Amino acid sequence: MATTTVSQSVNRGGAFLVAPIAPAEIFTPADVTDDQRLIGQTAAEFVAKEIVPLIPDLEKHKEGLMAQALKKAGEIGLLGAGIPEIYGGSELDKISATVLTEKISVYASFAVAFGGTSGIGTIPIASFGTEEQKRKYLPKIASGELLAAYCLSEPQAGSDSLAARTRAVLSPDGKNWILNGQKMWITNGGFADVYIVFAKVDGEKFSAFIVERGTPGFTVGAEENKMGIRGSSTVPLFFENAPVPKENLLHEIGRGHIVAFNTLNAGRYTLGVSCMGGSKKALQEASKYSRERVAFGKSISEFGLIKAKLGEMAIRIYALESMIYRTAGMMEAAISTGGADKVKQSMLVLEEYAIESSITKVAGSETLDFCVDEGLQIFGGYGFHEDYPMARAYRDSRINRIFEGTNEINRMLIIQMLMKRAMAGALPLIPAAKKLAGELLAGPSFEEPSTGAFAEEERSLAQAKKVFLLAAGAAVEKFRDKLADHQEIVAALSNIVMDVYAIESSLRRAQKSAAANSPMADAARSFGYDAMDRIEKEARTALAATSEGDALVTQLAALRRLAKHAPVDTIALRTRVAEAVLAQDRYPFEGR
Ligand SMILES: Cc1cc2nc3c(=O)[nH]c(=O)nc-3n(C[C@H](O)[C@H](O)[C@H](O)COP(=O)(O)OP(=O)(O)OC[C@H]3O[C@@H](n4cnc5c(N)ncnc54)[C@H](O)[C@@H]3O)c2cc1C
Repeated sequence: MATTTVSQSVNRGGAFLVAPIAPAEIFTPADVTDDQRLIGQTAAEFVAKEIVPLIPDLEKHKEGLMAQALKKAGEIGLLGAGIPEIYGGSELDKISATVLTEKISVYASFAVAFGGTSGIGTIPIASFGTEEQKRKYLPKIASGELLAAYCLSEPQAGSDSLAARTRAVLSPDGKNWILNGQKMWITNGGFADVYIVFAKVDGEKFSAFIVERGTPGFTVGAEENKMGIRGSSTVPLFFENAPVPKENLLHEIGRGHIVAFNTLNAGRYTLGVSCMGGSKKALQEASKYSRERVAFGKSISEFGLIKAKLGEMAIRIYALESMIYRTAGMMEAAISTGGADKVKQSMLVLEEYAIESSITKVAGSETLDFCVDEGLQIFGGYGFHEDYPMARAYRDSRINRIFEGTNEINRMLIIQMLMKRAMAGALPLIPAAKKLAGELLAGPSFEEPSTGAFAEEERSLAQAKKVFLLAAGAAVEKFRDKLADHQEIVAALSNIVMDVYAIESSLRRAQKSAAANSPMADAARSFGYDAMDRIEKEARTALAATSEGDALVTQLAALRRLAKHAPVDTIALRTRVAEAVLAQDRYPFEGR
């Protein structure tokens, strides 16, 4: 099922902060091929027919039902997207995998279980396994005969996962690794057959192991009583002198962190995509309900405050979707122009675009939280009732800001990775900051203002990048290698980075679609305008915590100059987007 090649030029990870990009160079949903769409359609039909009717029973944890549902997905080839064809998978390209994830994510519990086996449960073996391990496990994971789980977290080690206490020692006869310890919060743990378990060899060397269900001394605890994604399985695991065959060590002793973190990189991107699927579903339900519900003699969809909610939900989904498909396009271009070993190449590419993956995760989870919250509000009291769709969606959404690296950790990673790339010379942030300093010293420029349909947005985008350089430059100069200790400043910088990526991706997509006066252009404009306000505020917060006295006064004056943007009637823009939503009762920019 390998389908596409993407012709766009390859951008380096994080380069969006400094390198200009033309609309034609970004991948958008309009570039998705018919074959790729077909994969999404198959997934959507599968969920509608096979999964949605099971939801009431899945929510009650009916014994064996989620495992059965996953196996059905395996039977029609949906679990093998990340597995090479020679091991029985469908080896989907990044665009198809994105479309598939989005369409599978209508019911969060299934999406999480699906990602647990076919994503983070599969990647360690597909990317780091030996030939024997791949032959033994991958075909059966692809078909759903074996279901997988990824086991990193422990009761005392979540974000700080390398503080794991689970140990592995070689048995005296050298045949087995003897595991002792406990894992916590393991998705699919209640029914999985294959567990990717991280443990420290001799209590020191962090390593990865493949552990099979039924291993003596390995027991599965009771299901956790969760706030949301109740249909998914989440359990603790216990290892008491559990012998794991020596050949089940994954990758190398002491290199388990490479397996763990590369897998999470992939998981983060996918999680963002899954959140986009959930956000679209929330918008669809909210739109439909708002048209049907009557108050004060008219449909509530006619009220300005309801339109504002629907419009803003669609605008934020549009920004998220624009970032996601742009990222998918860059990844796919890099994978397809790389070496023959696509799985290895995928790992390198995920590392290259780790910044964009973290952005996708944070933006996706926060967009979904916004959409389910506003969606629930549109349902009023019925939003608070479990018989209506928003209550479950609201509960299910919350976990996304916590797993696959909390949003706090991902915000810090974004800046950490940018700085690392800048220091290594892979990203020319330092020359760009120096150039900006020179520009600011020289005073206001009298360049010809740009013209055209998006002239003001174009100017704002360029200025937003400079605002980042101004605030980040000041923070790096002051705190140098201690910047990471100033987390609130790092988070403010990270928020600017995310908004810059979102503004640019949204704007370029609208420009590429040549839709200057369409609701899509309205969405791009509205998002960009509000994002500029946020960027200015975040930069002010960061600068005020970085500088003082005359230096601060000068920097704030520079910030005001850079962040200046002409007023826009965002109420009118949001209304037009809302009307586009209401006209179809769904997210209006699908496939465009
Ligand atoms: C439903 C569910 C399913 C899960 N599935 C899996 C799974 O399949 N496999 C798996 O291995 N794990 C899984 N997890 C675990 C999940 O990845 C962790 O819960 C998560 O990484 C956070 O770890 P923690 O819960 O220990 O919180 P902590 O790490 O204790 O964090 C608590 C708070 O402190 C903040 N914090 C922590 N460190 C820092 C820091 N350095 N700077 C600033 N703030 C910080 C966090 O952002 C958070 O707000 C799952 C969890 C849940 C709830």
